Amino acid sequence: MSKIVMTTPLVEMDGDEMTRIIWQMLKDELILPFVDLKSEYYDLGLKHRDETDDQVTVDAANATKKYGVAVKCATITPNAARVEEYNLHNMWKSPNGTIRAILDGTVFRTPITVKGITPTVSCWKKPITIARHAYGDVYRDVEMVIDRPGKVVMTFIPEDGSEEKTVTVHQFDAPGIVQGQHNLDASISSFAKSCFEYALSEGKDLWFASKDTISKQYDHRFKDIFQEIFEAEYKDVFEKKGITYFYTLIDDAVARVMKSEGGFIWACKNYDGDVMSDMISSACGSLAMMTSVLVSPNGYYEYEAAHGTVQRHYYNHLKGEETSTNSVATIFAWSGAFRKRGELDSLPELCNYADKLEQATIETIESGKMTKDLIRITTLENPETLSTAEFIKAVRERLETLL
Ligand code: NAP
Ligand code: MG
Repeated sequence: MSKIVMTTPLVEMDGDEMTRIIWQMLKDELILPFVDLKSEYYDLGLKHRDETDDQVTVDAANATKKYGVAVKCATITPNAARVEEYNLHNMWKSPNGTIRAILDGTVFRTPITVKGITPTVSCWKKPITIARHAYGDVYRDVEMVIDRPGKVVMTFIPEDGSEEKTVTVHQFDAPGIVQGQHNLDASISSFAKSCFEYALSEGKDLWFASKDTISKQYDHRFKDIFQEIFEAEYKDVFEKKGITYFYTLIDDAVARVMKSEGGFIWACKNYDGDVMSDMISSACGSLAMMTSVLVSPNGYYEYEAAHGTVQRHYYNHLKGEETSTNSVATIFAWSGAFRKRGELDSLPELCNYADKLEQATIETIESGKMTKDLIRITTLENPETLSTAEFIKAVRERLETLL
């Protein structure tokens, strides 16, 4: 069989620990035998980030702007223990945070559905994708404890010297608490655009919700920005694609989600996204069965796994013990990136390979072969526990029959 040809390189970001081991296994077993891989390789392993003063992370993000599509392995975000473990000369920031800041992107997470691992919500037939706005609100708030009677005000002081504006937050006649929040039109607009772009790219309906009836200026601003961008830039293309944009109140959205059959993208404000993404992922199995993609408002895509570097398994691996780590999310990061590259470069064979890679992975699990984490939650009878390497080999055997 001749290998599938690529025309534009993928930006490949290698990572840390168990996922780095899996990365190499996937390339050897599932990619290089089938695809004439063109990639621009960036080593985001912690050691190399330290050696380059984290410049490699910035370079990788800029390469994503240049080529449009990246695939990223999970990476360590250093804490004090890691600084000691790796003898780092700095506690480098989260690579995901650095990349997100450069691409100005939004993360979309979707459960990978397989027969035998059923969502706890029985009416969910199709996956629900969550998009979380990752700036502002309570995550950038200021707070104060009020310990005696007094007045709290909020004042805006314009830089141009025009008149100040003050509102009373509360006249306290007893102790209490107070909180100030903000957001930025630019950030909300980027978020909205990423959501509309991704809905188009996936051909799925987009939902957005806030509490604009109660928060008549703050939440209402989110609603208005989404609506303005939709009307101006996306209404016609959505209609052509046969998809809809739907706005409702957050409590109504939650009620409808629980009764829906899924299959749409749910854009959430920062706090709602934090809470709801955990609900969706736990209702659907595990983080190892989620796809995750960072989408920029300019249409750059970075595919990754939603979980971390699985440190505990890595240490067992280093001791020579057999591991049973789930590689599905990392496989889907690669297939997502190949499919997007194939779409952009009009390479149907590359898209077909991506589809078949996902099909082989899902069918392997549905045939009862899976890693330990899934054994705990599957409804299939007599499932077989495979090691990290055995699972990847089983996917390869199936992939060979499909291609
Ligand atoms: P983690 O790597 O997600 O793993 C936590 C636990 O979840 C594991 O010990 C394992 O449970 C289970 N698990 C996660 N992924 C799994 C998989 N693919 N297959 C089987 N089980 C899986 O989180 P962590 O241990 O808290 O973090 C480790 C490192 O990852 C940290 O340094 C953190 O900075 C980094 N991290 C990176 C990213 C990213 O790059 N996207 C995201 C999160 C965390 P059992 O031990 O019970 O088997
Ligand atoms: Mg959370």
